[in-house]
Amino acid sequence: MKLIRELHESFKEDSKFIIFCDSKILYDQSENNYSFAPKDLNLKNHIKPYLSIALIDDCYFYVLNVNKGENILGLFMNPESTNFVDLRQILSFLDQSSFLLASRASILQKWITSNGFCSICGKSNVYNDIEGAFECECNSSPKYPTISPCIITLVHDEDQILLGRSKFFPANMYSTLAGFIEAGENAEEALIREVKEEVNVEVSDIKYYSSQSWPFPAQLMLGYFCRYTTGKIALNDNELEDARWFNINELPIIPPDASISGQLIRSYIEGRLKL
Ligand SMILES: [Zn+2]
Repeated sequence: MKLIRELHESFKEDSKFIIFCDSKILYDQSENNYSFAPKDLNLKNHIKPYLSIALIDDCYFYVLNVNKGENILGLFMNPESTNFVDLRQILSFLDQSSFLLASRASILQKWITSNGFCSICGKSNVYNDIEGAFECECNSSPKYPTISPCIITLVHDEDQILLGRSKFFPANMYSTLAGFIEAGENAEEALIREVKEEVNVEVSDIKYYSSQSWPFPAQLMLGYFCRYTTGKIALNDNELEDARWFNINELPIIPPDASISGQLIRSYIEGRLKL
């Protein structure tokens, strides 16, 4: 997949569209599909220019925002199985590369809809093809897509892992701990601070695992393992409604493998089982 950011006045013949409405993504449940060929859509002229976000095997992928109530479905699409859904709802049905593309589409559709006008002088922004960014004639800084770095970590203590749940999670689902990196802080410092703030425990032996783009709304998750050293779990802020130790053989529902949280947990357990 080649990542691009280009505005096209007309869409290319070989193309697919990823469509959002009110931050929800158009998804065909019967086909497990969220990218649609132009012939399957009811595309109106006022939607252009089209933002192309990726090139896969000579096929351009465009992201589009439509208004509520606008009929985007073509004649041959099934309105029973095709609806706008929260991207989180379909996370577990997507493989890694499908999730990456959907994640990029979600982040860039928010970027394009929030940068129509200059935040300094209020005039309309124009798109700079060379920079791939929105600019204003008042010379305010170009508006590139904004991504927020976050840490996400699995706290472990041999066969025990520390997981927490937010009140927004499905029943009995627990996940790894995560938080935004503060200005002036490095990732390891953020990890130690976030774990202490959220659950009151101290950790060491921080080991990098992997990273993942996370589109809720636009984070880059830096994934780490860390070893528990001291402290009794106490919820210190309002982010979590519960946190506890789980034995790796008696886990609650954990996030799907498409998420770095699910990967951290499964990877740690695989490593323990080989011991
Ligand atoms: Zn301006």
